[in-house]
Amino acid sequence: MMKKCLSFLYDSLFLSFSGMAQVQKAPERAEGEGPWPQLIIRGVTLINGNGAPPTGPVDIVVENNIIKSIRTVGYPGVPIDEARRPQLKEGGKELDANGMYLLPGFIDMHGHIGGESQGAGAEYVFKLWMAHGITTIREPGSGNGLDWVLEHKSKSSANTITAPRIYALTSFGQGSKEPISTTQMARTWVQENAKKGADGIKFFGAAPDIMQAALEENKKIGLKSAMHHAQMSVARWNVLHSAKAGLTSMEHWYGLPEALFEDRTVQNYPLDYNYNNEQHRFGEAGRLWQQAAPPNSDHWNKVMDELLALDFTLDPTFNIYEASRDLHKTRRLEWHETYTLPSLWKFYQPSKISHGSYWHYWGTEEEIAWKENYRLWMTFVNAYKNRGGRVTAGSDSGFIFQLYGFAYIRELELLREAGFHPLEVIRAATLNGAEALGADDKIGSVEIGKLADFVIVEENPLQNLKVLYGTGAIKLTDDNEVVRVGGVKYTIKDGIIYDAKKLLADVQAMVEEAKKVDDFKIKQPGME
Ligand SMILES: [Zn+2]
Repeated sequence: MMKKCLSFLYDSLFLSFSGMAQVQKAPERAEGEGPWPQLIIRGVTLINGNGAPPTGPVDIVVENNIIKSIRTVGYPGVPIDEARRPQLKEGGKELDANGMYLLPGFIDMHGHIGGESQGAGAEYVFKLWMAHGITTIREPGSGNGLDWVLEHKSKSSANTITAPRIYALTSFGQGSKEPISTTQMARTWVQENAKKGADGIKFFGAAPDIMQAALEENKKIGLKSAMHHAQMSVARWNVLHSAKAGLTSMEHWYGLPEALFEDRTVQNYPLDYNYNNEQHRFGEAGRLWQQAAPPNSDHWNKVMDELLALDFTLDPTFNIYEASRDLHKTRRLEWHETYTLPSLWKFYQPSKISHGSYWHYWGTEEEIAWKENYRLWMTFVNAYKNRGGRVTAGSDSGFIFQLYGFAYIRELELLREAGFHPLEVIRAATLNGAEALGADDKIGSVEIGKLADFVIVEENPLQNLKVLYGTGAIKLTDDNEVVRVGGVKYTIKDGIIYDAKKLLADVQAMVEEAKKVDDFKIKQPGME
């Protein structure tokens, strides 16, 4: 079940999902309290998603699901002025969050809702996301199929399930009975996709005329689009072609070094390379950025300027490649034992079949190449941000040892490593995502009139992003005692308050249950 080929990831054109087994749905919501006619969140330090510095103490008033007032009620270090506080109305609810930090709900721009192939069910995935403050995801083409995703999207918006709000992209060609081989077929498919209610399209690559037609048509309709520029098509169609034709965001990084080539037109593939060999694919990808024009060279600047002029969004998903530069660390992340499902753990193991299980023989040379790959890639992404470009936070969890929710927080740490100020990191995670979704009138920052999606945490995440991990951060007390601090305390979505630690406890129980069935222990391959 979990070793099924995930060919839809790079071969969506030729897939029909008609023969797929029934995928389990998320259960009816049993968690969360609210919404209330009035909710007052008392005494927080507000870290907004708009680049503004923290300020507080602040009381935030929500009515049902709409932010009604954001009131400063004092100054740090002095008692709160009770006279300035908004009054609780009858039937209202007060949330005492004195001394805590409140941020806009996080947006994961690359959130596959697991599925059968990975052995990660919807409830598991949704609770891990919600436990990490993720109140919105963009689904970049699900193995569960569009109908399934749209059903969960509407249940999430009605809050009958515990799940982030969902923006659904369809893998280009998904559901088509035949491979899309003409521009007319491409346009028809795009129109049908819009009629079905999708929010846009996720591309992997196609012939240039088909890409051009599909992107033009999608743009005309006004929908969003994302693309993983897979190597099979990138020699004829890179990020720059996509952006000019109307693509709104690029995923990962493939297709960008290719746009930056100046002394070659294809990647320097070894002559025995085979794209269907995952070690070849990921190993050689790690040597790709060094083949591109160097940072700040004329060509590098020119490509960046063109992308900036097109208001193009970069969604780098740095975290999903991290095993490439540090395999052992990524395999042994401390949360696997408690929160990784046995089925997911098995899916991660090296295999000639599973996508992303590329460490057939992953060694020092591959890791060193990837460290340099990261350096050049991060340099581009940071400069893009500095020159006014939009960069978002996306996780692509469920592959390569990256666990839902946890991996998103890791993504924030990697944006920090790329050179983002922590406030720029939070903006990437919130307002930038909302803008890229075309939803910044509703979500992405704490503003009057917007929806009540918040993350509340007891520690200052700007000082240490690790406090956002479900497992918190390790700290030594004055009495030389080791403690865990942080972990999101409350995730609020649509004015409903979720106890984030309770959601994590549910996930832990699910994992324990699954281990009983399988009589499973996390084993290290070749060592048991
Ligand atoms: Zn993906």
